[in-house]
Amino acid sequence: MSERAPMVDGCVFCDIARRAPTSTTALLYSVPYRCPHDDKVVAFRDINPSAFRHYLVIPIDHIPTVNSLHKTKDDHQLVSHMVKVGKDLLNQDAPNSEEHRFGFHQPPFNSVDHLHLHCLALPFMPR
Ligand SMILES: [Zn+2]
Ligand SMILES: [Zn+2]
Repeated sequence: MSERAPMVDGCVFCDIARRAPTSTTALLYSVPYRCPHDDKVVAFRDINPSAFRHYLVIPIDHIPTVNSLHKTKDDHQLVSHMVKVGKDLLNQDAPNSEEHRFGFHQPPFNSVDHLHLHCLALPFMPR
């Protein structure tokens, strides 16, 4: 498994976060290079949504999983910021949703090995 790094070749989420030319994913949230806390994360739609609104918030740096987070002020701020961005987006786009849910994968149940916060506004989508 890849370790924490500025970016990892072949990581689809690094490509999205760094706006690689091959990536066509539209970002819902990114304020690069404006304030020190807002150049840390980006948000975009889950390609396989399971709810009315289903967004992912990811750090721009490659952090594989929650197990790679440390009990430092920086990491604490990063996670708080990811949650805040997710809440702001759902409050903005789905203010009347019955419920907002937020969650990280718990390893080894990871879909993509780049830390991401799932942000869902219910109802769930019928499959
Ligand atoms: Zn990555
Ligand atoms: Zn996931």
